[in-house]
Parts: sequence; C-alpha cells; structure tokens
Amino acid sequence: MFARMESASDDDLISSITPDVMKCLGRCGFLEKLDGLLSPEENSTPSPSCDGTYKLSKSILNGAGFDLAELTDVLAVLQSKGGCCDCEILYNVAETSRLKAKYWRSRASGEAAHTPHTPHPRPN
Ligand SMILES: [Zn+2]
Repeated sequence: MFARMESASDDDLISSITPDVMKCLGRCGFLEKLDGLLSPEENSTPSPSCDGTYKLSKSILNGAGFDLAELTDVLAVLQSKGGCCDCEILYNVAETSRLKAKYWRSRASGEAAHTPHTPHPRPN
C-alpha cells in the first residue's frame, strides 16, 4: 500500500505526472510538430514566430485529442520544465529541435548579435 498522508501540493502533482505527460507528448509527436511549425524545413516560407503564448502548442494538442483539463496539466508540466511559451518549449523542454540547432549554428558562425529569443512580456 502506498497511501499519501498529506495532500499533495501542486508541485508534487506536477512532478508526479511529468513522466507520463512527457510519454503522451512523445507518442503524439508534439515536440516534433511544434518544431515543424516554428522552424519549417523549407526556408522559403517565413516561420511563424512565437508570440509568447502557447497558441501553437494548444492547437497541436487540440488536434491530438487532448481535452481542456488535460491541456492545463500538460502546460503546467511544460512550464515546470522551463517552457513558458511555444519557443521556450523547444529551447528548454525538447532535447533536440531544429529551432535549437539553428540557434547554435548561428551562434557558432558568429551571428551572435542576432538574439533568437528574448523573453516575452507575459500577459497576466
Ligand atoms: Zn517564445
């Protein structure tokens, strides 16, 4: 038996569901899809830039069949891992992403003046 005596705080809840949430996200290819949206393979079309929200993430998750309550949990997990908006998910949560690879390629080639990501002002 593994009864919890005290009620879990939100942090405990988040960390307890994190592995399973990440597994579900992996199964539906969430990070790859997000990467594909923010960093399309063809450079011909300008990629939509992150506007500091979870707009793209939400549409992907909706399309993958997550309901609103699940979406809230998923975003809380992503936030706890440092992904506070669409692009930060790719920078901080994804182990590899084209967006991150592109960033380091431009850093390596000396284009450091161009900062790919500045913290977004967050709506309350
Ligand atoms: Zn962002």
